[in-house]
Amino acid sequence: MAANLTGMTSPSWASHLLHRLAPPPLLLVQAFVNTLDLDLHTDVLAHADEARAWLADAGLRDPEQPDLAADLRLAREIRESLRAMIGRNTGGPPLTEAELRPLRQVTTDAVPRLEVAAGGQVTLGTGDGPGRLADGLAGLLLTIRDAQADGSWDRMKLCGNPDCLWAFYDRSHSRQGAWCDMASCGNRLKNRSLRARRAQAG
Ligand SMILES: [Zn+2]
Repeated sequence: MAANLTGMTSPSWASHLLHRLAPPPLLLVQAFVNTLDLDLHTDVLAHADEARAWLADAGLRDPEQPDLAADLRLAREIRESLRAMIGRNTGGPPLTEAELRPLRQVTTDAVPRLEVAAGGQVTLGTGDGPGRLADGLAGLLLTIRDAQADGSWDRMKLCGNPDCLWAFYDRSHSRQGAWCDMASCGNRLKNRSLRARRAQAG
């Protein structure tokens, strides 16, 4: 099912995101992190064929590239590093050495270069179209860098439900959003703490 945001249909690689979508290009960072669904125990990057297709669809990796197994290991590691980075926006701890190491691998392997568009905008890019995974993942880091510069990164958050940890985009004016979804996580957690309090009282 394609989600609908301000009249725009989501791209196919974001079809697993149903609400609280980040604006493009940050949407791709959100979609990548949420390829792991802790609640449903599904992982788009766990199965070679599905992962190869998703990464190609998202423009992160040419499906003809060799070493898919090693690339999927790196992709899954980077996914948790990005989740930790987003977690910083919701009070999470600084990144551990294990979370920083795959990020350093990507920033060392990738070769971003300056690009100038016909409109005169100067940007950093990693080339046209999908190529090596390291370049695709570096592209995600460049997107995060831009979002950190324009302030939109602060709105990327992790759901407060520790069994969920879904990455969502908080568009609320107060920026106080704490759940990926009030019905599925907010109320569940509230009910759980209510039950715990009652059990304590009893
Ligand atoms: Zn949640």
